[in-house]
Amino acid sequence: MTPAAVHVVGGGLAGCEAALQLARLGVPCTLHEMRPERTTPAHRTGDLAEIVCSNSLKSTEPATASGLLKAELDLAGCRLLRAARETAVPAGAALAVDRERFSAAVAALVAAEPLITLVRDEVADFDDDPAARWLVATGPLTSPDLHAALARRTGGAGLHFFDAVAPSVSLESLDCSRLYRAARYDKGEADYWNAPLDREEYRAFCAALVAAERTEVHDFEKSLLFDGCQPVEEIADTGPETLAHGPLRPVGLRDPRTGGRAHAVVQLRQENAAGTIFGLVGFQTRLKQGEQRRVFRLIPGLERAEFVRYGQLHRNFYLDAPRVLDARFALRADARLRCAGQITGVEGYVESIASGLTTAWRLAAELRAVDLPDWPAETLLGALLDGFLRDGTSRRFSPMNANFGLLPAMPDAARGRRGKQERKEALAARSLAALRAHLAGAGPSALLAP
Ligand SMILES: Cc1cc2nc3c(=O)[nH]c(=O)nc-3n(C[C@H](O)[C@H](O)[C@H](O)COP(=O)(O)OP(=O)(O)OC[C@H]3O[C@@H](n4cnc5c(N)ncnc54)[C@H](O)[C@@H]3O)c2cc1C
Repeated sequence: MTPAAVHVVGGGLAGCEAALQLARLGVPCTLHEMRPERTTPAHRTGDLAEIVCSNSLKSTEPATASGLLKAELDLAGCRLLRAARETAVPAGAALAVDRERFSAAVAALVAAEPLITLVRDEVADFDDDPAARWLVATGPLTSPDLHAALARRTGGAGLHFFDAVAPSVSLESLDCSRLYRAARYDKGEADYWNAPLDREEYRAFCAALVAAERTEVHDFEKSLLFDGCQPVEEIADTGPETLAHGPLRPVGLRDPRTGGRAHAVVQLRQENAAGTIFGLVGFQTRLKQGEQRRVFRLIPGLERAEFVRYGQLHRNFYLDAPRVLDARFALRADARLRCAGQITGVEGYVESIASGLTTAWRLAAELRAVDLPDWPAETLLGALLDGFLRDGTSRRFSPMNANFGLLPAMPDAARGRRGKQERKEALAARSLAALRAHLAGAGPSALLAP
C-alpha cells in the first residue's frame, strides 16, 4: 500500500496509540522504544506506555474537559483509552489504571498487530532516506541525542528544555469590576488585565504564599531553580517587599478608577487568540495545585478564578509548535518528521494519546492520498490540536491541557442564562454532535474504510 518506511519513535502513550492507529489504517510501521536499554529520569520499567506519575487519567464525567476529550476519543476509536478502561481501578468519577496491567494490555495490543514491528533501540538521529516517515513521540524526557538531532533541524530555535509555567485562568471566571486594563507606561495597547493590591492585601497574599505547600523537586529538576526561573514563592521567601519590586511592581501602572498607584499589581496577559485565557505574569510556581487555587484566589478579582492550567516547574522537552510545526504536525524544516505527544505542546496523558491518534491519522491520510480536514473547531480535539498548537499569540508557548476555555463560546442567544454546569453540558453536546458529523464526512470515512 505504501512505499514509505514508517518509523514511530517512542513506545510511550502517544507512540503506542500512533502505531496502533497506523496498523488499524493499514499502514505498517516500526515502533522504536529505547527502554529498558536506555531509560529516562522518570520511567521505572521497560514497559510500553508506562504511566510515569499519577495513575489517574482524570475525570470521565461528560461535562468536564477531561471527560469530553475521552468521549471524543471513544468516537474516534482510540485504542489506549479502551485498554485503560479494561485495566481500571476504582477511582470514583475518574479513570485510574493499574499501571502494570495497563502497560501489559498495550503490549498485547501491539504484539497482536502484524503490521507493527517493535524494536528496542534508541533512535539517535534520522537517516537520509527521502521516502522514510518518522513519527517522533519521544515525550518530555526525549533522549539527549535525539534532542540534539531535532535541534540541528530547527537551528535550535523553538526547543524548550524545561518548563517553568505560570498558571492561566479563564477570563469569564474573573471579577473584572475589580481589575483594569492597561499596559505599563501605556506602551502599546492596553493588553493586560491588572489586579491592584493595597498594602494589607499584598502582605496577606505574601504571607499565604510563603506558607503554602510546595511540590517536591526531583534531583534532575534542581538546576532549574538556579537557572533564571525562580518560582514566585521563592522570590517571596527572600523578603516581604521583594515581589512588590519584582513581578508585582506597580510602576507605570495607574488605576484609572482612582488615578493612583497601588502598592502592588498582578498583571494578567492574554494567552490565546480568542482572548478567553489569561496567564499570571511572573507567577512560575511549584505550589501544589490545591494551594495555587487557594492562594492565588486571594488576589482581588481572582476570588472565583477557574484555573485552566496550573503553574509548574519540571524538566519538559517540547517544541514551540506554532512556529516549528505545520498543520500535519510535520517539522517545517524536515517534512519527513511528524511529531506527537507531549513534545508538540499538549500536556497530560489523555492529551498525549489524542495527539498520537491525530498525527497517525494525518500521516496515513497523506500516504493514502486522502484529504482529511482538521477536527471541528467546536471539539476539544480541534481546539487543542488544531487551534492552540497553531496559535502563536503567546510569546512563550507552553504546554496546555484540554480545557473548556479553549472552546469557542456559545452564541449569546444559545447561551441564555445558563449556569456553569449547564453551559459545560451544552458545550460537550455541541462538540460530540460536530465530531459525529465530521467522522461521517468524506475524508474520515475514506480513511477509516477497511
Ligand atoms: C515527571 C513527569 C510527571 C508527569 N506526571 C503526569 C501526571 O501525573 N498526569 C498527566 O496527565 N501527565 C503527567 N506528565 C505529563 C505527560 O502526560 C506524560 O509525560 C506523558 O507520558 C507524555 O506522553 P508521551 O507519549 O508524549 O511521552 P512518554 O509517555 O514519555 O513516551 C515517550 C517514550 O519515548 C521513549 N524515548 C525517548 N527518547 C527516545 C529515543 N531517542 N529513541 C527511542 N525511544 C525514546 C521513552 O522511553 C518513552 O517510552 C508528567 C510528565 C513528567 C515528565
